[in-house]
Amino acid sequence: MAVPLLDLKAQHATIRDDVVAALMHVVDQQTFILGEEVGQLECQVAGLSQSRFAVGCANGTDALLLALRALGVGAGDEVVTTPFTFFATAGAVHNQGARPVFVDIEPRTFNIAPEQVAAAIGPKTKAVIAVDLFGQMAAIEQITAAAGGVPVIEDAAQSIGASRVIDGRTVMAGEAAAIGTFSFFPSKNLGGYGDGGMMVTQDEALFETLMKLRTHGGRRTYFHEMVGYNSRLDTLQAAVLKAKLPHLAGWSAARRKNAAFYDAAFADVPEVTTPWVEPSNTSIYNQYTIRVSDRDGLQAHLKARGIGHSVYYPLALHLQPCFAYLGYREGQFPESERASREVLSLPIYPELTAAQLDEVVSAVRSYYAR
Ligand SMILES: *Cc1c(COP(=O)(O)O)cnc(C)c1O
Repeated sequence: MAVPLLDLKAQHATIRDDVVAALMHVVDQQTFILGEEVGQLECQVAGLSQSRFAVGCANGTDALLLALRALGVGAGDEVVTTPFTFFATAGAVHNQGARPVFVDIEPRTFNIAPEQVAAAIGPKTKAVIAVDLFGQMAAIEQITAAAGGVPVIEDAAQSIGASRVIDGRTVMAGEAAAIGTFSFFPSKNLGGYGDGGMMVTQDEALFETLMKLRTHGGRRTYFHEMVGYNSRLDTLQAAVLKAKLPHLAGWSAARRKNAAFYDAAFADVPEVTTPWVEPSNTSIYNQYTIRVSDRDGLQAHLKARGIGHSVYYPLALHLQPCFAYLGYREGQFPESERASREVLSLPIYPELTAAQLDEVVSAVRSYYAR
C-alpha cells in the first residue's frame, strides 16, 4: 500500500459540500476582491490567534514582506533570523533591500536559539524574524527578551493554532510578536485552494499601515499615503478557508495523535530520533520530522515501498548560492547544517488511516532491522 506524504483529496472529500457551497456563493455574488468573507475570516483568525487585528494578503511570503515594510525595514538594515527555514523567510528580507543576519538553531526544536539572538543584534538591526518551524512555536518570550526592544516578527506560516504556555498563560502563535504572519498555501494546516496569507498584530498603528500596504498604500481608493503593493487575499480563498477553519483544531489534534503513534512505534529504534516538543508547547505538526544518520539509504527504502517523504530543508539558507554575497561559510551554523543532513519528514496528515500508519512504521522499522 502506497502512502503519500500529503493527501489533499482525502481532506477535500470530507468537506466538499461546504466548500463548494461557499465558493458558489462568492461566484453568485461576484465579490471577488475583498468581499465580505475576507473580513469575516480576518475576525476569525484574529480570534484564534488572540490578536486584536488581522489583515489578509496574497500569500505567506507577502505577509513577511508587508510586515517588514510596516516595521520600517529597508535598504541597509539588518534582520536577524534562522538559516533553517523555508526560503521565503530570508527572501523577504532581501527583497526589502535589507540584509539577513543568520543565527543558528536549537537542535531539538529546530527553532532559532534565543541565546544567540542577543549577540547578533547590532546598530543596524531593525527586526528579528522568529520562525515557528514544523508546527511548534519558537521561544518567543526569550527571543523578544534577547531582541532588547527590536521588534520581532513571528513567521507562523507552519504553525497556525499552535500554542505555548508562558508564565502560566496560553499564548497562541502570532499573538506575542509585533506582527505574526500566516500562510494558507495548500500544504499548511489551514490550506486554501490556491495561495493566501494573513498578518496579525495587537498594534493599531501597525494594523492601519498593513491595511494600506496591501492596497497600494491607501485605504481610500485613489488616495495614496505611501507606495504599497497589490497583495489582497482573494474572496474565493477566504470562503474556502472560512469553511475549513472550524475543522482546524480537530485536524491538528489528529496530527498530534498520529505523531504520538509514531513516537511510540520508533521509541526502540535507536537510529531514529523522533521530534521533540517543548513541554510548554502544543505543536500542530505541520511536519513530523525525524532525524536519521543514514538518510539516503532510508529514503531509497521508503521510495521503493511507496512511502511519501521529503527533506525540509536540504540546504541551509546561509549556503544558498543566491546568498553567497552575504559571505557566510560552511561550518558557521553547525546545527542548521547537521539538521539539513539528518532530517526526514514522514506522512502526518490527519486523514491517515490506521493501516497507513502501520505501513509507514513497518517501512521505517524494516530498514533498520536489516
Ligand atoms: C510556507 C512558508 C512561507 C511562505 O508562504 P507562501 O504562502 O508559500 O508564500 C513562509 N515561511 C515559512 C516558514 C513557510 O513554511
